[in-house]
Amino acid sequence: MNPPAASVDTHCPYCALQCAMTLTRRDDGSVAVAGREFPTNRGGLCHKGWTAAQLLQSADRLTTPLVRAHKGAPLLPASWDQALDMVAASFRQLAAEHGPDAVAVFGGGGLTNEKAYALGKFARVVLRTSRIDYNGRFCMSSAAAAANRAFGVDRGMPFPLQDVGEADVVMLVGANVAETMPPFVRHLSAQRERGGRLIVVDPRVTPTARLADLHLQPVPGGDLALLLGVLHVVVARGWVDEDYVRDRTTGFGAVRHRVSAYWPERVEALTGVPADQIREAARLLAGANRAILLSGRGAEQHSKGVDTVAALIDLALALGLPGRPGSGYGAITGQGNGQGGREHGQKADQLPGYRRLADPADRAFVAEVWGVAPDDLPAPGLPASQLLEALGRPAGPQALLVMGSNPVVSAPRSIAVTERLDALALLVVCDPFVSETAARADVVLPVAQWAEEDGTMTNLEGRVVLRRKLSAPPPGVRTDLDVIAELAHRLGHQQGFPAEPQTVFAELRLATRGAPADYSGIDYDRLGAEDGVFWPCPQDTVGTPRPFVDAFPTADGRARFADVTDRAAAELPDAGYPLHLTTGRVLAQYQSGNQTRRITELVAVAPEAFVEMHPVVADDLGVVDGELVQVVSRRGHAVARAMLSEGIRMDTVFMPFHWPDAGNANRLTNTATDPVSGMPEFKVCAVRLERIAP
Ligand code: SF4
Repeated sequence: MNPPAASVDTHCPYCALQCAMTLTRRDDGSVAVAGREFPTNRGGLCHKGWTAAQLLQSADRLTTPLVRAHKGAPLLPASWDQALDMVAASFRQLAAEHGPDAVAVFGGGGLTNEKAYALGKFARVVLRTSRIDYNGRFCMSSAAAAANRAFGVDRGMPFPLQDVGEADVVMLVGANVAETMPPFVRHLSAQRERGGRLIVVDPRVTPTARLADLHLQPVPGGDLALLLGVLHVVVARGWVDEDYVRDRTTGFGAVRHRVSAYWPERVEALTGVPADQIREAARLLAGANRAILLSGRGAEQHSKGVDTVAALIDLALALGLPGRPGSGYGAITGQGNGQGGREHGQKADQLPGYRRLADPADRAFVAEVWGVAPDDLPAPGLPASQLLEALGRPAGPQALLVMGSNPVVSAPRSIAVTERLDALALLVVCDPFVSETAARADVVLPVAQWAEEDGTMTNLEGRVVLRRKLSAPPPGVRTDLDVIAELAHRLGHQQGFPAEPQTVFAELRLATRGAPADYSGIDYDRLGAEDGVFWPCPQDTVGTPRPFVDAFPTADGRARFADVTDRAAAELPDAGYPLHLTTGRVLAQYQSGNQTRRITELVAVAPEAFVEMHPVVADDLGVVDGELVQVVSRRGHAVARAMLSEGIRMDTVFMPFHWPDAGNANRLTNTATDPVSGMPEFKVCAVRLERIAP
């Protein structure tokens, strides 16, 4: 066995910027983190990255499987053989009794490409279930659907991040990068130093909005109307790039007609954004040689999220940006492998490489790589919210394997999701810690953390990077790939499920050959020697940083405008629930907080749930800054500390979603989803505030 490395160049365990870092083991066994020069982070890390290694020696670390003898019994230590045998026997029995869809799988956008691939293959080949989806459905599925529709492919940012620093104008719609991925701001700072202008669209004066030259502050759910209004001005003023539209796009005629109804004064009435600001945004964008439009979760997490992103893409196309060097439209991914996680088969409708389960040719290609008959692959399954809602129902899944997710905290309407998890015959959770979801499981399998296993991640630019391990996991802990392999063996598949990441990646390369997300030309040696490789990367090519320069990967090579129109959010304020609630993240916590809530420095900065409200709202309620208040929606109530801010609209309150129990913002959120992407409407629902008696 090789001795553990003293130092390794790797990448951060958290968000999609995948900042480069060096881990070094100190003499006392602790691990030092240093930022490393890389095109995305330029040596910088955020507070989460600097403190990430503390988790490796966390006292909360699980080092043995836990098993519940029966419902209601406590979770007790068990051997790996006991735990895995129990899971395999239960899966086999439930599938025999109810059919293969009785066993479901729920993955995560933080899993490496290798794990996402192996988990999708395990579901389709071993379990033969259609019931697999993942938490990335909550994260970027609306931008993915809109990009697929417009460009024929979804590669979040179809250009390197350095282009942002060189753009004349950048427009960020619903992306608070200064808090969610601070080193991104280095690119915005470079852009500003060159004299560039920044436009931010956000209902709150976020740290990112404070950097802006122009901050448009629409009511939650107002982004779609606002973007149609900006496009109206571009059309009305004759600022459309007509040559580009003629040569590189289809479908503009209907859009030109549609946006005629979104004149600025009408859009001001719909969104609260002054008409002059709408005209100014259009003027800035149209006057730029190089302009970049970027969307984040704020644009996406709506029941009209796909159409909202489509309106932003329409604006980009009308200005002739996608494919023009230094310009374009891109989506900022959130989770660490949000991009790769949705390419390799853990999404309900997808096979590796962005191949589609509904496409006979795609099924046949992947089935051959997997050594099964195409007809043996299940049909597309259910998107995450529907999958979670079906758990434990008579016709729904009776068992669930969770890997890389904590839906008790992160899923919308979390109280109802928790009830569905409790209704299962068997809940199996793979996690390094007893997360809130693991605490309800029948079997908890302790798995390795990021610095304890190799793997590849695909960052927000579509750049595949190699995350190397510093050392093996502690005794008693196995990798997710090992768990998949062991379960596959116990369920009759002795071959086809290697636990070695590099071997899995070699098969992933074969399975994606010729696909939209083609990884066949990428290997670990290249990734180790280069600053990552952009997909598509067919064999013997160097990768593709800017895939749209010559043509779009559509049937006719043209981008497609989408004729979209505004509509109301699924739930609007009324007399009983008079305020909009919008949810999001803070700098010092990450997603469900399962990792970051265990790090002392981060807890000191962001210890508990809060609800941001305008002082006028607080005054009406009679509460002061820091006082606990109850936030009530039609789905439940949460308790959080009032945070007074003049930077939020008077009709809106904001809660971050990182905390469990009474402070869980997702007790309140709505399960309404986008009809195309299945993405939940996390960004707007109706609530009221109640003062808690002292
Ligand atoms: Fe990690 Fe994201 Fe912070 Fe970079 S910005 S250090 S990738 S959490």
